[in-house]
Amino acid sequence: MANPFTQAKKQIMNASKKLKLNSETTSKLMIPDKFHTFWVRIKLDNGRRVKFRGFRSQYNNALGPYKGGIRFHPEETADTVLALSAWMTWKCSLVGLPYGGGKGGIICNPKELSNSELERLSKQYAKKIAKHIGENVDIPAPDVYTNSQTMSWMLEAYESKMNISSPGTFTGKPIELGGHLGRIESTGLGVAISIREALKNLKIKIKGSKVIIQGFGNVGQNTAKHLEKMGSKIIGISDSSTGIYDEKGLDIKKLIEYKNSGKRLIDYKNYKKISNEEILVKKCDVLVPCALENSIDNHNAPKINAKVIAEGANGPITTEADKILFKRSIIVIPDILANSGGVIGSYFEWLMNRTGENWDVKTYNKKLDMMITNAFKKVFEKYKKIKTENMRNVSYMIAIERVVNAMKLRGR
Ligand code: NAD
Repeated sequence: MANPFTQAKKQIMNASKKLKLNSETTSKLMIPDKFHTFWVRIKLDNGRRVKFRGFRSQYNNALGPYKGGIRFHPEETADTVLALSAWMTWKCSLVGLPYGGGKGGIICNPKELSNSELERLSKQYAKKIAKHIGENVDIPAPDVYTNSQTMSWMLEAYESKMNISSPGTFTGKPIELGGHLGRIESTGLGVAISIREALKNLKIKIKGSKVIIQGFGNVGQNTAKHLEKMGSKIIGISDSSTGIYDEKGLDIKKLIEYKNSGKRLIDYKNYKKISNEEILVKKCDVLVPCALENSIDNHNAPKINAKVIAEGANGPITTEADKILFKRSIIVIPDILANSGGVIGSYFEWLMNRTGENWDVKTYNKKLDMMITNAFKKVFEKYKKIKTENMRNVSYMIAIERVVNAMKLRGR
C-alpha cells in the first residue's frame, strides 16, 4: 500500500497548485511543526521490562491548539501518524474549528496486553508527552484501539505530573471525568447530516431514500439510526463476517441491539446474507463505507450503483477509484467533511470543560448540525462553481486556504 504521508503530501501539492500558492508556502505545509518519537517503557505483569515506540505529531497550529487522537496499533508507523496529523489539520480547518492538527500513537498490540499493562502503557505515554500537550497546546482523544478508559488513565498521569487540574487536555473522556453523552453518536449523526444536505442539493427526497452501510460499529450504527430517523430506508449493512440485505428495509433498532451483544451478522437469522463484496455494488441511493481504508478501489468503483457515497470511515476510497467515481458523476462526500462530527463533538467537550457549561444532548446535536450544514454548504457551493474538481479536492482547497491565511496573518 502507498505510504500515507506521501499521499498526504501529494494532496497538499495538488491543492497548492490550484490555489496558486508559492513553493515556499507549499513546502511549509508539507512539514510538521514538531514530531516527537520516544520509547515508552513498562513492566509486564510477569515482571519482564519491555519498551514500545511512541509518537506524537504536532502538524500545524496556525488555527489553534493541535488536536487529534492516539492510536495503539501493531502496524502504526511514523508516516501513518504524520499523515493522520496532516489530515486532522485540514479536517479542523474545513469545519471552522479553532484547532490545528495532531496525532499520536504507540506501536503495540493492545489485544496481547492485560488491562493493568494497558493502564501502565497509557500513563507512561502521557507522562512522556506531558510537557508538549495541554488544553491550550495540544489536545489528544481516543482513536483506533483506545477509548474513554485510555483517556481517563492519560488524564490522571498528565494532571499528576503537571500538578494541575486540566480536564480539557483530553477529549473523549467518560461522563464522570467531563465527557459528554452526545459524543458517542456525534460521528454517525454528522455523517447522516452530511447525507441529508447532499440529497437536498441533488433534489433527492430523503424520505424513502435507499441506503447501504458497510461496517456496523460505532459510526455505521449511528449513521443508520439517524438516517432512519430522517426517513431513509436502510436496505443493507455489513460487518466483517457478512452483509445482510432486504429491499423492504432492515430493522435497525434490533440489529444494533444484536451487534452490541457481541454477535456477528453471519449468525443473524432473519435476513438474506450477501457477500461483503456484493453489498458494495448493490443498487441504492446512498452508500456509506464505515469500516476500513481502501474498500472502494479501481476494481469495484466501476460497478458501484449509488448516487452518493459518504465516507464515514477515514480513507475508504483509493485515489484511482475517486477518479472513476468522479467520471461516473457519483457524488463523494469526503471523510474530512462527512465524519467531522467526531472532532466537532470533541470541540464541544473541550468548550464545556473550559467554561463549566453543560449542554443537554438536544442542544449539543443542534449545534453539531449547524456546523456540519454550514461546512457542507461552503464545499457544495464551490464544487458547483468549479465543476472540474470533485468535492474532496474542493474541501482540501477550502481547508488549506484557511490554514495558509492564518499562517500569513501570523507572519509565518
Ligand atoms: P468500529 O470498530 O466500532 O466498527 C468497525 C466496523 O467495521 C465493525 O462492525 C467491523 O465488523 C466492520 N468491518 C471490518 N472489516 C469489514 C469488512 N471487510 N467489511 C464490512 N465491515 C467490516 O469502528 P468505528 O469507530 O465505527 O470506526 C469506523 C471508521 O470510522 C474508521 O475508519 C475510523 O477511523 C473512522 N472514524 C471513526 C470516528 C469515531 O468517532 N468512532 C470518527 C472519525 C472517523
